[in-house]
Amino acid sequence: MQNLLKERGEPAYRADQLWQWIWQKKAGDFQEMTNISKALRSSLQQEFVLQRPAVVQKKESIDGTVKLLLGLNDGFFIETVIIPEKDYYTQCISTQVGCPMGCVFCSTGCMGFKRNLTPGEIASQVLVACRHLEDTGLDSTRLTNVVLMGMGEPLLNWDAVKKAMYMMTDSLGLGISRRRLTLSTVGVRDRLQEFGSSRLGMLAVSLHAPDQDLRRRLMPGAATWDIKDLVRALEQYPLAPRERITIEYVLLKDINDSPAQARALVRLLSRVKCKVNLLAYNPGEQEGYQPPQEKTILTFEEVLRSKGLTVTLRKSKGQDISAACGQLIADS
Ligand code: SF4
Repeated sequence: MQNLLKERGEPAYRADQLWQWIWQKKAGDFQEMTNISKALRSSLQQEFVLQRPAVVQKKESIDGTVKLLLGLNDGFFIETVIIPEKDYYTQCISTQVGCPMGCVFCSTGCMGFKRNLTPGEIASQVLVACRHLEDTGLDSTRLTNVVLMGMGEPLLNWDAVKKAMYMMTDSLGLGISRRRLTLSTVGVRDRLQEFGSSRLGMLAVSLHAPDQDLRRRLMPGAATWDIKDLVRALEQYPLAPRERITIEYVLLKDINDSPAQARALVRLLSRVKCKVNLLAYNPGEQEGYQPPQEKTILTFEEVLRSKGLTVTLRKSKGQDISAACGQLIADS
């Protein structure tokens, strides 16, 4: 944008103004940009479009979670989910159309990989969510937390994700605190360290198994990186004094939910500065997987806690509208 405006003989700060209008003030039209001359606005309007993914369908859960099906320029669809917390909203955004990782319990994984999203398609999901909140009379300034945990593996689209995270955290952009922006990955060799060095957000790692054999069965795409090497990389991951990595573990009945597996998980993570997020499986379109009984979940949790791990048992939201973890699917 700086180059583009320079070619038109505009001062350097004009790019900041334009950037601010698009991301911070969420302008939907060049004509709203009142501190930019009419002549420049008209010339921009003739050459460019300000475009966001279009809301094709909205579904609202009884718990207030909203899932938006978004249409992209080339006919593909993605999903984004707005989750109401006590006094703020968390938005879960997508980074790819589909996902090549093929995790067997995940609806997105089962639809396969279609294409990467562009930086604009990733970050503008937040603009779309803010507009949805405003249109329904809700306060969009409360959308303070964003997780890159929707469709896709963000580190396989790292170049675009990096730019999108910059758009989201920049103080003239969406202004989201990096401590409230979380990238969730299965762990991609090399890119994990790059993400750590970028300091653009917090890290969550989907582990879902305490050993390589089971992880290979559940997450074939992720298992090209041996679980022990992945954990070694997590031990060396750069963290500020009070930061911790979030380990995501979806509990599947009779598959990864036994007390022995909980103990194996404790041993595996013994040198990682982390907290563990446990989540019972959300039934999707895949057959053969069930959530464990509540008693089994509590026993698993207790084993981790008793060995000194910080554990949260995440309540699943939006299950009734297939908006919960692992349930996102959008066929074009
Ligand atoms: S769980 Fe995540 S990484 Fe695995 S297939 Fe689904 S979207 Fe991809």
